Amino acid sequence: MIQEKTMQIAIARPQIGEEEKEAVVAILSSGELVQGKKVAEFEGLFAAYHGAKHGIAMNNGTTALMAAMMAHGIGLGDEVIIPAFSFFATASCIMSVGAHPVFADIDPDTFNLSPESAEAVITEKTKAIMPVHLYGYPADMPRFEALCQKYNLVLLEDAAQAHGAAIHDRYVGTWGTASFSFYPTKNMTTGEGGMVLTDDDEIARRLRMIRNQGMNTQYYHETLGYNFRMTNMSAAIGIPQLKHLPDWTQSRIANAEYFNKNMQGVKTPVPQSGFKHVYHQYTVRVPEGVSRDAVTKRLNERGIGVRVYYPLPIYKQPVLLQTGRYDNITLPETDKATLEVFSLPVHPGLNDEERAYIVDEVNKLC
Ligand SMILES: *Cc1c(COP(=O)(O)O)cnc(C)c1O
Repeated sequence: MIQEKTMQIAIARPQIGEEEKEAVVAILSSGELVQGKKVAEFEGLFAAYHGAKHGIAMNNGTTALMAAMMAHGIGLGDEVIIPAFSFFATASCIMSVGAHPVFADIDPDTFNLSPESAEAVITEKTKAIMPVHLYGYPADMPRFEALCQKYNLVLLEDAAQAHGAAIHDRYVGTWGTASFSFYPTKNMTTGEGGMVLTDDDEIARRLRMIRNQGMNTQYYHETLGYNFRMTNMSAAIGIPQLKHLPDWTQSRIANAEYFNKNMQGVKTPVPQSGFKHVYHQYTVRVPEGVSRDAVTKRLNERGIGVRVYYPLPIYKQPVLLQTGRYDNITLPETDKATLEVFSLPVHPGLNDEERAYIVDEVNKLC
């Protein structure tokens, strides 16, 4: 009997080298474990890399988003416009301050928030718009910037998947107050971790207080704050990770270009001139008439760690349905995408043999 060749290829493979290990050991030996000089160094480097004035580290991407809401005074009854085709934290951060997520539809080519759809749901209660750079593809920030100026709204960015993404050489994270995540599956990691970037001195000052119990001076609590601090161990991992980010991004792009060229049946990502997609995920659509779930099941059986990001839009999640606010909305492109997409391994750890295997297996099924 001929055994079919299989490989095991994970959807993500965090790259942790000797530098990261040594840096953590050095912190442990120093005894300065909590937020200190290492965190400040990492903040400076990450902000400078993206061309932002301030970087404020947090303990994860979710708290980075929550802190951004608080720093802008978004609160009870306010509305924030977001896509429903994203990770849950894009919405939960808004609910955490008593505000309401308002969902607009996506552009079917980029999977990102559509500016037209966002403009259509602006009301007198709208306080902010927060596009998500989904899968590492920058949302159309010049248009969102113009929209926010026109209606006097705050511009925020959920940049959790988009370290180093850019539009015409201007990096994400410099358009609005922007939250990043350093979870292990993201394009760079600190274990758990997050960061907010902003050019606004006052917003930066508030963010530093919010992450540290609302204090400016010790034990004087100026504002409501929590413990969202990053540890020095995490920052020590982040520094060498950031150094590798440009190379890793290039590998992701090279892998994606290889897939774009060689995959046949599936609908591959649509490049937009001037937009630098950093391929946090390489996400395709199945062709008409093909079952997405059958394809992903088969690819997983063949050892390819495919995933569906995201199978249920946020506005249909039980916790949102319970509010009764989302019964009468329709987001046709969002709903369609949740049924058709799947993501394939595109990480910098892939070798040539793995890339070819992925293409062969996908082409056999679609
Ligand atoms: C990962 C992610 C987050 C949350 O980041 P954590 O570090 O996991 O808390 C928020 N938004 C999006 C779009 C994400 O992908």
